[in-house]
This record gives sequence, structure tokens and C-alpha cells, in this order.
Amino acid sequence: MLYPAELRAQTFKPKNVVGVEGFEPPTFCSQSRRATGLRYTPLPLRRTCRLAPMRARILLMHIATVNQDMPFFCILHLNLGRLTYRFNGKRAKIGHNILGTLSMSSLLLDGKTISRQMEVSMKQRVDALKSRTGRTPILATLLVGDDPASATYVRMKGEACRRVGMQSLPLHLPGTTRTDQLLEAIQGLNDNPDVQGILLQHPVPEAIDERLCFDAIAASKDVDGVGCLGFGRMSMGLPAYGSATPQGIMNLLKAYNIPLQGLHAVVVGRSPILGRPMAMMLLGADCTVTVCHSRTRDLPSHLRHADLIVGAVGKPQFIQADWIPDHAIVIDAGYHPGGIGDIELTPLVDRIKAYTPVPGGVGPMTIATLMEQTVKAAELAF
Ligand code: NAP
Repeated sequence: MLYPAELRAQTFKPKNVVGVEGFEPPTFCSQSRRATGLRYTPLPLRRTCRLAPMRARILLMHIATVNQDMPFFCILHLNLGRLTYRFNGKRAKIGHNILGTLSMSSLLLDGKTISRQMEVSMKQRVDALKSRTGRTPILATLLVGDDPASATYVRMKGEACRRVGMQSLPLHLPGTTRTDQLLEAIQGLNDNPDVQGILLQHPVPEAIDERLCFDAIAASKDVDGVGCLGFGRMSMGLPAYGSATPQGIMNLLKAYNIPLQGLHAVVVGRSPILGRPMAMMLLGADCTVTVCHSRTRDLPSHLRHADLIVGAVGKPQFIQADWIPDHAIVIDAGYHPGGIGDIELTPLVDRIKAYTPVPGGVGPMTIATLMEQTVKAAELAF
């Protein structure tokens, strides 16, 4: 009998349920199977149950419990539109509504782990480049002023460069730097054949025309994806370096095989480096996209119908848990002191489909994506 000993041993969270492929009830299968990380093992029909009708394959999936006291092994008997389950050899029928009472924990989209995996493959690519050309890719980082958070981000990017075998070229300009001086520094890096990527750390002091400076970065070296040209190309589905944070979010969703086609995505925030490119990337991935901002009326009403939510507001825990539906995939791009994001995550982690933690979700993916795009730029340049 397919009823693993380790499953019997669990009293609170039995892990397996059997369903017939292609007929999974909507809450637990297809997209959510991936989104929730429910593991399943397709099994030949004869090894499972004679009752499951006319289906060649049966899925064994991880799932939480129907009854908090009792480990649970069930077989979906879909011809009847009913659920037939076995427990210790007994058999009973229960309606699909029972599935609604099953609880499951959400899938944690672990940006830290995925970014480390990306680094392993980047290191191999950098090593290959070095042995082929004898050159080491260089990412130039421009920091203007003394904002401690920006200094920390630049330092972290330098450390990430070293981890993958690249070099960073840090340039630190005083807070009194004028736009023309910064433009001159950028032009110097554009003209420097040893530099393959340029990062201008955002935000720059208010007196500087940040947009002008972002757009002065050569498109071939704009590995942080901040220029208008890259944004336009990305929006048109043409090759471009995506803005690192939203591109990192896309990379994370891809790493977890989360299907995006047809989802209603709601992006809260429309900043040039985050909300706006995020919306275009999701549109490019065939989502139906709503972009909310500070003038949006009744934000909760938009979120209640969302399949995918990206919080990019810049206000700690601004998006409240009770605005978010159970079926949502929740991406929190925010980061604030104390390790909190833009979304009230704690009450959500046991009821939504998937979520990014703060910290350890979007942040590491941003840096890994910046690195990956620098490696790509070097591969094209060398
Ligand atoms: P931003 O430039 O300040 O933009 C904030 C956006 O939120 C704006 O579009 C604003 O709308 C919108 N907003 C403000 N109040 C709102 C409200 N009451 N309702 C709905 N929307 C509202 O911030 P950002 O640079 O995009 O950053 C957003 C968050 O992401 C921050 O927490 C930041 O720390 C974080 N971040 C993280 C990373 C990373 O690597 N993890 C990178 C960048 C940013 P308006 O356009 O109407 O003003």
C-alpha cells in the first residue's frame, strides 16, 4: 500500500495526496502545484488504486492535513467529481469541499538560495572567459555622497563581484558633485575598454539630474538596466538589460517555474527603476497588469482580485495582509530597517500561494541579476 511509514509517523502534517493528472482541483494543482512547491510523483495507475478510473497516471503530492489528528492518504476519484480516500485500508467518499478545509503552508521564494545557485553558474562563465581571453570582467560602481545605505549596497555589490571572480572598480564622488561632473565620470567609464558594466547607485543627491546621468550610461554597459533606451527595448520585447530589481524578481519566479501567463498581476508602485519596468516585464510574460500608485483610488479593491502582487511602495508594511487574497503570489520588493518590507507578511505566510521573505527574497536576486548581466556584457565585449 502506498502509505509511507514516515507519513504515518506524522501526526499533524501528512504530506501526500494522490490525484489524477489533468483533473486536479484548482486550489492545489497545476500552477499552485509549482507555486506551492507541493512535490508530486507520477505513479503508474496499477500501483495505486483500482478505483481511479481510466487514467494512466496518478500524482502523489505533498499536502497538509484534512484532519489535524490523522495522517491522510487520499485518491481523487474524479469520474464522480468526488474525492475517494483510503485510510488504513478503509475507504470513504468526501466532497471537494473538504479540499477547501485543507491547509497548506505557502511556498517561500528563497532569493538567497537561488542567487547563490546563480553565482555558481556565473563563476563558471567568468572562469571560462578568463581562460579564453585572459581578461577579468569589471563592474564599475559609482557612489555619490555619503548615504550609508547606498554605501552598504555598493559594498555588497563589490563583494558579489569577488565571489564570482569578477573585479569591481569603485568610484566614490563627494555629495557636492554636480551633474556635469558626474556625466564626465560616466563618459570616462563608457570610454574605458576595461570596464564592461557601470552601476550608478540610486539615489544620487537631489541636486543631480539622475535621469540625465542614467541615460548617459552606454546601453552596452547599462547592466543595472536604468536607461530609457534599455527600458524601451525591454518593453518592446527586444534584447536589453532589465532593471536589476524587477529582472531579479522575474528570474526568481522563473527559478520556481511559476507560470505567469494569464495571471492578474498588481504592481504597487510605478518608479522608473522598479514598478514601471516590473509592470512591463509582467506584461511581456502575458500577465494582465494593473499598476497602482499614490493616486490610485481604493487600493485594497485592486489587490483583492490579484493573482500576483508586487509591493514596491517604499513604506514599511504599507500593504496590509487582509487586502491580499489566499491564492496570491506575493513579492515584496521593499526593504526597511528591522528587516521588514512594504507588505505585512507575517499573517500571510500560511495562507497564500507563495511569497518572498524580507530579507532573503528580492534583495539577493537584485544583486545576482546585476552580476549576471555584467557577465553577459563581458561575454559580448570580449
Ligand atoms: P519610490 O521611487 O519611492 O516609488 C514608490 C512608489 O510607490 C511610487 O510610484 C509611489 O507612487 C508609490 N506609492 C507611494 N505611496 C503610495 C500609496 N499610498 N499607495 C500606492 N502607491 C504609493 O520607491 P522605489 O525606488 O520604487 O522602491 C520601492 C521599494 O523597493 C522601497 O522599499 C525600496 O527600499 C525597495 N527597493 C528594493 C530594492 C532591492 O534591491 N531589494 C531595490 C530598489 C528598491 P507615485 O508614483 O504616485 O508617487
